[in-house]
Amino acid sequence: MGASGSDGPTRGGFLRARAARRRAEREEEKAARQRESDARRAHGGTPELPIEIDSPAAIEARALSQPCPRCLGSRLLVSHDAETVDGERLRLARLRCPRCGTEQRTWFRIAAVPLH
Ligand SMILES: [Zn+2]
Repeated sequence: MGASGSDGPTRGGFLRARAARRRAEREEEKAARQRESDARRAHGGTPELPIEIDSPAAIEARALSQPCPRCLGSRLLVSHDAETVDGERLRLARLRCPRCGTEQRTWFRIAAVPLH
């Protein structure tokens, strides 16, 4: 036993490859989390900072124009509702990524038409 030194380097190489892969996965996970937190802070991420649009008809296209913050895949619109937050009429689009399952809410405000 111990005479067969051939599996040493092989196993070491395997472990190194696995460690590198795990490191890459951790980096990707970190980047994904960063994108998610950026998306929450960006316009539309909270009712206090809605995306201004001219018409409710633009909501779907606008919401779907952003990729999934986690895996960068394209998403589906789950629902689109009118919500009142602090007396303000807002629109809430719920999006779901079919690839990684991440759900996201995007808030909109219909820009007021000036009354003369
Ligand atoms: Zn995704």
